[in-house]
Amino acid sequence: MLFASTRAALVPVTFEEAVFRGLAQDGGLYHPMEETDLRPFFLSLTESHSFVDVAAAMTARLFPENFTPDDAREIAERAFSFSPSMVHNVDGLHLLELFHGPSCAFKDFGASFLATVMESFLRRSDRRAIILTATSGDTGSAVARAFHNRRNIEVVILYPSGRVSPLQEKQLTTCGGNVTALEVHGSFDDCQKMAKDAFIDRDLMARLPLTSANSINLGRLIPQSFYYVYAFAQLKSRLNDELIFCVPSGNYGNLTAGVLAWRWGLPVNGFVAAANRNDVVPEYLASGLYQPRPSVHTPSNAMDVGNPSNFERLRAIFHDNWNGMRSMIWGESVSDRETVDTMRRYYERHGLFLDPHTAVGVCAAERRFDRELAKAVDVVILSTAHPAKFSEVVREATGAVPPIPEELAKVLTLEKRAVQVENSFEALREFLLTRYST
Ligand SMILES: *Cc1c(COP(=O)(O)O)cnc(C)c1O
Repeated sequence: MLFASTRAALVPVTFEEAVFRGLAQDGGLYHPMEETDLRPFFLSLTESHSFVDVAAAMTARLFPENFTPDDAREIAERAFSFSPSMVHNVDGLHLLELFHGPSCAFKDFGASFLATVMESFLRRSDRRAIILTATSGDTGSAVARAFHNRRNIEVVILYPSGRVSPLQEKQLTTCGGNVTALEVHGSFDDCQKMAKDAFIDRDLMARLPLTSANSINLGRLIPQSFYYVYAFAQLKSRLNDELIFCVPSGNYGNLTAGVLAWRWGLPVNGFVAAANRNDVVPEYLASGLYQPRPSVHTPSNAMDVGNPSNFERLRAIFHDNWNGMRSMIWGESVSDRETVDTMRRYYERHGLFLDPHTAVGVCAAERRFDRELAKAVDVVILSTAHPAKFSEVVREATGAVPPIPEELAKVLTLEKRAVQVENSFEALREFLLTRYST
């Protein structure tokens, strides 16, 4: 399979190139060129297939030029020591829990697969890479955990001092080894600007093998399609007439991955794009107008995105056809109040803690399917983070503190180690050259 830029001005590249480049040189996003048909494989799956089985088979089928079936299995096994878990029939809904990985959020799936394929490519050709990434919290913690101890890879994470949660800061700063956290005295936007400046500095790029691991990387996007297929296999024997996925969305990587699985033949009848008050995509679906704007702060802060980067990919999949997109994706925007109410209601009714992102998904699904649920619809809501990652918000909504999983509790006891850097590209450049040039 080859990949082209969504802006289509360049020659297509291989998966390996797309993974190391991240962004296409014309500023577009890499996107599969062919429509692979995996339907017979999807239909052959059963409940007894593990997540690793699904991931290995899809890796081998999607990238036969890069990986033999044995390579693909090894990659799936190395990447996924954790699995999604399905909670059935909570008020007629299924929750697909994606937070059982090392950082307790769904971004672990993409980050861990990307780290594993990068390591595999680098070792084959005896090269090294330096991952440089800016984070507002969640991405960085997944990247730090996923790339920790990978051979031939160094990791540098820029984060804004005092602007990530205490738990996130611990997740970022306690790996050690090949992972270095840079504490920047500035905002997230400053961090992002510093990283971007590095990638366009020709001299620096010629001297160091810098690469990014941000959410637009294909190596993070593709593996997110695996759990849609896994959910289908888990539900298949009991499926009603229609299967719908409801996806709490910010940059729309998660939703785009589901739409790709559908294009490859997964029997899905529709997707709900569940947004918080940052609702440019639901607005586009309703009106046909795409109007990006600055984000506003909400309780589901990993979804506070005003100009979602994967929207360009979604548009490309539907050939920029509004009606085509609308026939498959329904937008719902959920208020802060509804988010908190949903968390409270679920706790009171079921003793179940929802994190605020999952709560947006649940509320959107309920609103959309209240009547239809009586009919034959199965709705799978992607549960994107462990409630303990957002325990402040959860406590305010429910009056109770969610139990903290062992991984998170352990991280809290470790000692923070971060390098302080000034808020300037020069400071970053100096750090990188001193530390990594040979
Ligand atoms: C990143 C994130 C989202 C949004 O996912 P996108 O792929 O950016 O749409 C939702 N929930 C949580 C917990 C996240 O960390």
